[in-house]
Amino acid sequence: MRRRIGVVGAGWTGAVAGRLLTDAGFAVEVLEKTSVVGGHSRAETMNGVVYEPNGAHIFHTDNEEVNKFVNAHGLTRPYDHKVLTEVYLSPDDDEGHLLSWPPQVEELKELPVWPMVERELASLPAQPTGGNFEDYVVSIMGRTLYDLFIRDYTAKQWGRPAIELSARFAPKRVELRRDGHRGLFRDRWQYCPPNGINEVIESVLSTVAVTLDTEITVDDAHRLGQDYDAVIITASLDDFARCPGELEWRGIEMRSRFEPTDDPGGVLTPAYVTNRPSTRVPYTRTVETKHATGQQIKGTVVSEEMPGAPRRHYPVLTADGANERRNAELAEKIAEHFDIPVYFAGRLATYRYINQDEAIADAMVVAHRVAAELGG
Ligand SMILES: Cc1cc2nc3c(=O)[nH]c(=O)nc-3n(C[C@H](O)[C@H](O)[C@H](O)COP(=O)(O)OP(=O)(O)OC[C@H]3O[C@@H](n4cnc5c(N)ncnc54)[C@H](O)[C@@H]3O)c2cc1C
Repeated sequence: MRRRIGVVGAGWTGAVAGRLLTDAGFAVEVLEKTSVVGGHSRAETMNGVVYEPNGAHIFHTDNEEVNKFVNAHGLTRPYDHKVLTEVYLSPDDDEGHLLSWPPQVEELKELPVWPMVERELASLPAQPTGGNFEDYVVSIMGRTLYDLFIRDYTAKQWGRPAIELSARFAPKRVELRRDGHRGLFRDRWQYCPPNGINEVIESVLSTVAVTLDTEITVDDAHRLGQDYDAVIITASLDDFARCPGELEWRGIEMRSRFEPTDDPGGVLTPAYVTNRPSTRVPYTRTVETKHATGQQIKGTVVSEEMPGAPRRHYPVLTADGANERRNAELAEKIAEHFDIPVYFAGRLATYRYINQDEAIADAMVVAHRVAAELGG
């Protein structure tokens, strides 16, 4: 008899794990609490315009296996992601300057603050230092650039000063560019699907049994033990264990609005993603997905990303690692409720700040483990 696998969640992780195990001969059912698949990466349309209610999701990877997998499911349209930042050089600076993100030394040389920046850059340590986010960033770009690009952006985004945040995710997020490379990412492959990522995730799930509108929690452990031989959980563990507040999360709210344009190619903001570090505006960035999709349609959707929403978007990786320890404890407690093997994978369940390609790689690892441990 075919071994049965229950997968909780139909985002990238659940979809890919479900697909790989189905292809390997398991009887898989993906259980999703909402009425749609795609998780955080899902795009929607407003008056026909594709936009991203969970924030900009740029697909980029350097992982050949992941690249091959997404190509096979139709994610092939090349895209080179470039971000702008609107910076005010002083409190009485009326006009913001649109600069590249990450900051580019060649562009900075044109600014009146360059002499100060140059002095600071000359006295940086040879290697980044510092256990908290602020110290780390100052050690790679100096105090002036930190104040302009990072300090207020981080405080707005995380609701706490950078000094309280871990430096662990800084290398992935912050850089000072000296080589003129303008794209945000250096990965070999970057794509933007014309109609939103969910089309690709739907293709991944096309041969997998999916049950929508079904929220699974630890209270379902007994039933799951009867229905399946193993379960993969991609949900957030405080939610799954019914202990809201046990883990800290940071959430955003995308305030999205449709705006008419006369020209079918018309856009209203300077870039797909424009960072707004200034405290003069309450949002952290604007997102206008039409820049990337190239959709030809009259009208556009501009989203302002508001921080501080009560949603599980980002794990809060504090310098003391307390939340990660609590997540590991929750995983142990949840597993005790089951008398079948339980696997945890993906961004929410493993409480990691991972991108889509890493979620896919996670799914590949967990599918491989399940197949090895349970047999076909
Ligand atoms: C604001 C933001 C911006 C991002 N930008 C990028 C980017 O530019 N590039 C990039 O590569 N990555 C980006 N990411 C990361 C990307 O969203 C994740 O890596 C990816 O979505 C993780 O997929 P997942 O399946 O692990 O989780 P999710 O996409 O969160 O999917 C989890 C699924 O489980 C379901 N679920 C939850 N609880 C239950 C339950 N109890 N029962 C049943 N179902 C449940 C959810 O409804 C959801 O469908 C961003 C993330 C956020 C939040």
